[in-house]
Amino acid sequence: MFRLQSYLNDAWHPGDGPTRPLVDPATEEVIAETSTGGLDHAAALAHARTVGGPALRALSFAERGGLLKAMSRALHGHREELLELAQRNNGATRGDAKFDVDGATGTLSYYAWIGKNLGDARFLVDGEADKLGQGARFVGQHVRLPRPGVAVHINAFNFPAWGTFEKVACSFLAGMPVVTKPATATALLTWRMIQILVDECELPAGSLSFVAGPPGDMLDHLGPQDVLAFTGSADTGAALRGGKAVLHDSVRVNVEADSLNAAVLAADVGVGDDVWNTFVRNVVKDMTQKTGQKCTAVRRILVPAERVDDVTEALVAELAAIRVGNPLTDGVDMGPVTSASQLRDVRAGIRRLADQARIATGGADPIQGKGAPDGKGFYVAPTLLVAGDARAATQVHSHEVFGPSATVLPYDGSAAEAAAIVALGKGSLVSTVYTDDRDWLADAILEMGPWNGRLQAVTGKVADQSTPPGMVLPNCTHGGPGRAGGGEELGGARGLEFYTNRVAVQGDRGLLKKILGEA
Ligand code: NAP
Repeated sequence: MFRLQSYLNDAWHPGDGPTRPLVDPATEEVIAETSTGGLDHAAALAHARTVGGPALRALSFAERGGLLKAMSRALHGHREELLELAQRNNGATRGDAKFDVDGATGTLSYYAWIGKNLGDARFLVDGEADKLGQGARFVGQHVRLPRPGVAVHINAFNFPAWGTFEKVACSFLAGMPVVTKPATATALLTWRMIQILVDECELPAGSLSFVAGPPGDMLDHLGPQDVLAFTGSADTGAALRGGKAVLHDSVRVNVEADSLNAAVLAADVGVGDDVWNTFVRNVVKDMTQKTGQKCTAVRRILVPAERVDDVTEALVAELAAIRVGNPLTDGVDMGPVTSASQLRDVRAGIRRLADQARIATGGADPIQGKGAPDGKGFYVAPTLLVAGDARAATQVHSHEVFGPSATVLPYDGSAAEAAAIVALGKGSLVSTVYTDDRDWLADAILEMGPWNGRLQAVTGKVADQSTPPGMVLPNCTHGGPGRAGGGEELGGARGLEFYTNRVAVQGDRGLLKKILGEA
């Protein structure tokens, strides 16, 4: 059986403990195995800190950017192979695979550009110097210095490429070495990407390490200058936040977790308008892209009560036409979910929602995937539910079904009520509002905004040029309050903040200017 290896201390390690299988979710065929038994995680973190950290910090932003550019190019050079791996191990259609793989290379390239613009500096100057004493000479200048520790990244199963490299891009540009751990079930793509980078890019020694499976006791060895960036379920996030090293050494933690994202249609949008069409297109894409396994996918569709039937009819027509099956089969629009446990969770979740809402299309029953062996593969139908009362459908606001499922919720058409319903989700990554009513939009931004990390406003003038709301772009921050984890990633140069310490340097203005380049 093909064994994925971990890359620690600048060497590959097969692991020698119990193995975990990696499965093709379209057929249930076991395609690889992995083991992290016997790995010395303490030594690996120390190597990254003492060898990788100094090497990265010695480079200027422009040089770190150059490294990111080389990484992006190397990975792009293997694009076809990477897309195939995503299709095999993730159940991704070719389009889904591109979303993940091109998202990774695109984000690396974007941060290469930020690095180029930051130029020869090796740290960030934060604001201007403030006069502190009676004379002009004694000042305080804030700077952001790279943390002399290691960045440990733990990622979810749904974005083995993008999830890994959006974090690596920010860490590397800030000057921190990385130990990255994808979810075990879909680690094949990440493993191959790391292998390409090790073979083809002159990575500074110790700068990039990779754990192909459960991380054992690694997190017990985190120290005061280390950071832990986690993406996954709220439960795992909460457990990691409570880790001994995290609590006692104030390890900085970022959590990107569950989210009950919303699409909100305002009352001014007419059936068949440009804004209406974009709304229908975005909702269907969000529900079916990556088989709904996107942290940013819409789960709650808020619709003025009088429009519920029109919206349901339009969405059911589109969803019923989606062909579900093996992504390697011609004419398949949506693949399986990525694992047997995912399939169980999604089916159970749909049943839970169906206690409080009617199923308009789809459902929790097993389906045969097109082009899949009989009864094999983790397939589920795109499922739209409709609730009679948005507030009474409490499960919709508390339970994330991480698959191709969303619920239509009626509301009274006011921005205040829409915001209050969105808030029942206790914090989301993104909500999208569809309207051309400027007053309604102003209220929605102010009242709904604080419950989201990102708010997308689709109006007539941008309906045909807005990016799909589920797409995370490196220019804007990604993260959300409350149940979404309370974290923040990306957002251009803001993405470097997590990996740097703000230090107030007080002293002689002239001297500080020479040393820091400002003051
Ligand atoms: P998960 O079960 O929480 O696992 C996430 C990661 O944590 C995996 O790499 C997993 O490793 C690891 N992990 C689990 N227990 C651990 C422990 N005790 N110590 C260290 N690592 C541990 O989540 P998932 O099922 O992969 O992902 C689905 C969830 O992620 C959904 O709820 C989705 O909303 C959320 N998500 C959020 C975002 C975002 O940006 N906000 C993005 C994507 C997904 P193993 O695989 O080895 O168990």
